[in-house]
Amino acid sequence: MTFSDFNFDEQLQEGLNSMGFKKPTPIQQQSIPLILQNKDLIACAQTGTGKTASYLLPIMHHIAVGEKSHVSTLILAPTRELAQQIDQQVEGLAYFTGISSIAVYGGGDGMIYEQQRRALIEGTDIIIATPGRLIAHLISGIVKLDHLKHLVLDEADRMLDMGFNEDIMRIVGYLPKNRQTLLFSATMPPKIRTLAAKLLNNPEQVNIAISQPAAGILQQAYLTYDPQKIPLLEGILRESQYPSILVFASTKDKVKELGRSLSKLGIKVKPFHSDLEQDEREDILRAFKSRQLPVIVGTDVLSRGIDVEGISLVVNFDVPPDPEDYIHRIGRTARAETTGTAITFINEKDQRKFASIEALIGREIPKLPLPEALGDGPEYQPQLKRDSGFKRKPKGNWKKHKNAGNT
Ligand code: AMP
Repeated sequence: MTFSDFNFDEQLQEGLNSMGFKKPTPIQQQSIPLILQNKDLIACAQTGTGKTASYLLPIMHHIAVGEKSHVSTLILAPTRELAQQIDQQVEGLAYFTGISSIAVYGGGDGMIYEQQRRALIEGTDIIIATPGRLIAHLISGIVKLDHLKHLVLDEADRMLDMGFNEDIMRIVGYLPKNRQTLLFSATMPPKIRTLAAKLLNNPEQVNIAISQPAAGILQQAYLTYDPQKIPLLEGILRESQYPSILVFASTKDKVKELGRSLSKLGIKVKPFHSDLEQDEREDILRAFKSRQLPVIVGTDVLSRGIDVEGISLVVNFDVPPDPEDYIHRIGRTARAETTGTAITFINEKDQRKFASIEALIGREIPKLPLPEALGDGPEYQPQLKRDSGFKRKPKGNWKKHKNAGNT
């Protein structure tokens, strides 16, 4: 199957060619025909599968061949990074079509709000928005969505996790009942089904074998005690030939602390978290994309938002709490058929979580021996209950790393 099978508008096809997309991915093969037929759709697909273009292309085709006078499409996304990334894909695909889009997201200063306000007054075909900020503009009365034709909820599971349920329902109150609604989600917990039942009309379903990381990713793990983690990471970063490395930690505070510890060791690194101003976040991503900054430490916000070519190493400083987040995090490497490496540090407490990741992806991930200088790590015994005060004393010469490892 090729894209020409869809008979897209010519200018849209040109945009597609210029983006270098040659063959539709599985989610695109399944979703595009249904969306072109104006069906409602629930699609279970993670990032990295080409899900964004799978809804953008048919919607943009409809816009290109239809009348352009009102906002026709609203895309809701959980984070500003994802909203900006979707907007960039629209810009690329729309290059020859004259279709316009605006990304509307929270944060930033009053100037950004004002810029968004003015752009909205001028009008656009597609609005890509985080829910909270869109509501502010809807209340102010400058956005009119009563002629909307397509509503997309992207990463719906993440939006619900972030507490946007009420905001979504409030926004839907501004939309016409007669519209196409598409819901994309990496996971399908019952609350997503409930949301879909409220918003979608007789939906089709597409399920892309989720939870399978791209085949090009080499996955490895180390069993470590907490004090061994920083020296281990330092060694990996120093020895690495990789130009762009993402390190994930589970909380904002850990990210900040890890950023400080690595900086003290002379490693060029920036922490990336939700306390940063919008400008700071953009500066960091820009430096990273242009290879001036080799390492970013971030929370899972980063795993959803970042689309950078050529990230060849992802390190999970902690095992992510949700197995799906593991897939998202390591999906930042090996984008679009390249290769990459993902390394996870597993302490005693995280072993059960890691075992559930292995169960989800259906295979064991090799556990590498620690460098000799760090001494032995814990044994892999995920079946033992680890959170009941049960503690093993680390063997080997780990004490010298104690301070460095005090995260
Ligand atoms: P997504 O799953 O939407 O986050 O897309 C993942 C990456 O794949 C993005 O960088 C897209 O630009 C890229 N992509 C999407 N569709 C295709 C395609 N058919 N061929 C090649 N790359 C694609």
